[in-house]
Amino acid sequence: MGGKFRMACAAEFKAEMKKYLDWSIRTATEHQNVTVKLGVEATVDAVKAENPDAIIIAAGADPIKPPFTALGTDKLVWVGDAEDGTVPLGEHIAVCGGGVTGMEFALSMIRMGKKVTIVDLLPENELGAGGSPINLICLKDLLKEGGVEFICEARIEDIDEGGIHILKNGEKATVKCDTAVLSLGFRPDAKLAAMFSEICDDVYVVGDAKKPGNVWNANTTAFDAAMMI
Ligand SMILES: Cc1cc2nc3c(=O)[nH]c(=O)nc-3n(C[C@H](O)[C@H](O)[C@H](O)COP(=O)(O)OP(=O)(O)OC[C@H]3O[C@@H](n4cnc5c(N)ncnc54)[C@H](O)[C@@H]3O)c2cc1C
Repeated sequence: MGGKFRMACAAEFKAEMKKYLDWSIRTATEHQNVTVKLGVEATVDAVKAENPDAIIIAAGADPIKPPFTALGTDKLVWVGDAEDGTVPLGEHIAVCGGGVTGMEFALSMIRMGKKVTIVDLLPENELGAGGSPINLICLKDLLKEGGVEFICEARIEDIDEGGIHILKNGEKATVKCDTAVLSLGFRPDAKLAAMFSEICDDVYVVGDAKKPGNVWNANTTAFDAAMMI
């Protein structure tokens, strides 16, 4: 239980967040009105069998993984798998996508002694936009102090065994790395609400399934749905 929040609190400097995860799981599972069924897919038939008065869809969103040549190999991994240690990582890491998730992952990596390069389409001053401004200033300072290289305003054209092939200022270049880590955001499954709306009238979509964001977004949208019910 815990969805992607398990990966969110995997970094050593975010360990305090794990207490919130543990509290959330304990509160939900110990409540006498809550039945948890794990290892079960919420298909339309399975949910229909519950005969619900209302449905809250909190199925999260899919990570964006363009069909780069190295997809499916150890050369190219997803940031969530890299955070929770389920994939091998080399010594030189190139993080593809310098949003808050990518930059926090970069911080974890330099603290583990790895060399890190961040590649992003945006200019450097726009990286992480939308995050808390003060945290962002500190995070970028820590990355700079730790020697992270930023390659900004660069379009990733492909990633293969040779590295990350980019187009920057109209010129092609290759960023060498041992492991490329994708951190390009999420895409919700727009069909989910429609699928479940045939079961009952009261259907709510919350969290990343509604709009990929963060735990605050997941909590507030879930709270709003609960209040509506
Ligand atoms: C590496 C990383 C770092 C992050 N760092 C932070 C951070 O520092 N702070 C922050 O606020 N946010 C962070 N986030 C984002 C945060 O984790 C998500 O916004 C949040 O977990 C979204 O919660 P959710 O419940 O909407 O979806 P999810 O956490 O994705 O949970 C969805 C759940 O639904 C289940 N599910 C999906 N489909 C089905 C189905 N058909 N049947 C049954 N179950 C299903 C999944 O197995 C999963 O358990 C991070 C995310 C990642 C990946």
